[in-house]
Amino acid sequence: MEKDGVVIGLECHIQLNTESKLFCGCPTAAEEPNSSCCPICLGHPGSKPVLNAKALDYALKVALALNCEVNKEFFFSRKTYFYPDMSKNFQISQYEIPVGLKGHLVLSTGKKIGITRVHLEEDPAALVHEAGMGASNFSLVDYNRSGIPLVEVVTDPDFASPEEAQDFLDQLTTILSYLKVYSPLTGTLKADCNVSVYGNSRVEVKNVTGKKAVGKALEFEVARQKRLLLDEREIVRETRSFDEKTMTTRSTRGKETEADYGYIFEPDLTAIQLSSGEIEEMKAKMPELHAAKSKRFMKEFSLDEYTANVLARNFNLGLLFEEISKSVDAKAAAKFLTRELMAVVNRSELDLDSLDLDSGEIGLLLEMLLSGKITEKVAKDAVVAYLAKGVKPTRFVEGRGLSKDLGEKEIEKAVEKVLSENKKAVADLKMGNEKSLNFLVGQVMRLTKAKAEPRAVQKIIAEKIRK
Ligand SMILES: [Zn+2]
Repeated sequence: MEKDGVVIGLECHIQLNTESKLFCGCPTAAEEPNSSCCPICLGHPGSKPVLNAKALDYALKVALALNCEVNKEFFFSRKTYFYPDMSKNFQISQYEIPVGLKGHLVLSTGKKIGITRVHLEEDPAALVHEAGMGASNFSLVDYNRSGIPLVEVVTDPDFASPEEAQDFLDQLTTILSYLKVYSPLTGTLKADCNVSVYGNSRVEVKNVTGKKAVGKALEFEVARQKRLLLDEREIVRETRSFDEKTMTTRSTRGKETEADYGYIFEPDLTAIQLSSGEIEEMKAKMPELHAAKSKRFMKEFSLDEYTANVLARNFNLGLLFEEISKSVDAKAAAKFLTRELMAVVNRSELDLDSLDLDSGEIGLLLEMLLSGKITEKVAKDAVVAYLAKGVKPTRFVEGRGLSKDLGEKEIEKAVEKVLSENKKAVADLKMGNEKSLNFLVGQVMRLTKAKAEPRAVQKIIAEKIRK
């Protein structure tokens, strides 16, 4: 036990981004409530589940990425419970033998967190609570969510602080995005958090949604339990829920033990068998993950560990860096992305995964900065305008009326080259397609390494087209 006595374990439920549900063909994306359901995901009598092979493949990838031992034979079980969100009165999950066991994940501090198990299960339906007075206080059930595939990652009780749990979730979601099995913008991540202090009773905070909320729930729960001990009061073994508005947890019901769920073997699905060869083949096909990518960045581009880690920690940022460094000095690109770009992302609390960043545009901006065409201030302002308002950096610089040092003859040469190489765009432009003009200007800018003045380029293109 760590010196301040905190012991935390997590059970993370992550929505896999398959197109169809786990045991039927219903789409996972649906707009209208109860519009994506069938007899299987509604649990009608006689309906039979069929396992979604892609969901299984995704769960296996997660188990391998978390260094688990993959079982050669595993099966599904029925977890029995009665609640409106589970119309067939049981959830198909895995209990006795899951996809993977005994893995680990290394935190950024180097501490190893044990992974107890990784298993596949179906999501229950969503309950929508409509608060009102008296009889108008009711709940609605949306079965669109019923049967959506979840991978559950259960950790050993290895975390000694909420910060470690937070770091784990950051690493886990990074791995999931590298595996392309989870969409952070549309998919959900929920966690059941087990917390105890100084060897007292364990309290479970159930169903906390999102990484940030998990951190807040843990902070509150640790403080609450420590306060109880200071007041010489007992910590009751119980299940609590987290209220995001008040950032507090409250008691919901007594703690169930696993036996209460009455797990039985699922008779409608066959056991899954994998040969050693198949498991080895899957291992060989695993993509490079962020820890390996970070090491590669250090070696290939002589980056320091911190910078390489920041770049590799976000899949899109790592990709952007690799694209840009094809045309710009890699160290300068790394410095610009980790300092200037990340400063704007962090300051404006933007989500890197939801930004559609054009490596060509950022590369050109960096080239202009490195060749002294623009000042650092202009480059920084251009990044702010791009990230916050979507103003393209080349546009931004052009708008500032900055002079470029390329003569008209050289621009003309570049324009001629681009026009002869892009016949389709030229034809489109002659038909009046304005987008083609932007494209051609962009090509000339690229060819001249942004040394040409875009307005001059436009003028020359227009003249050439008219001839
Ligand atoms: Zn269905």
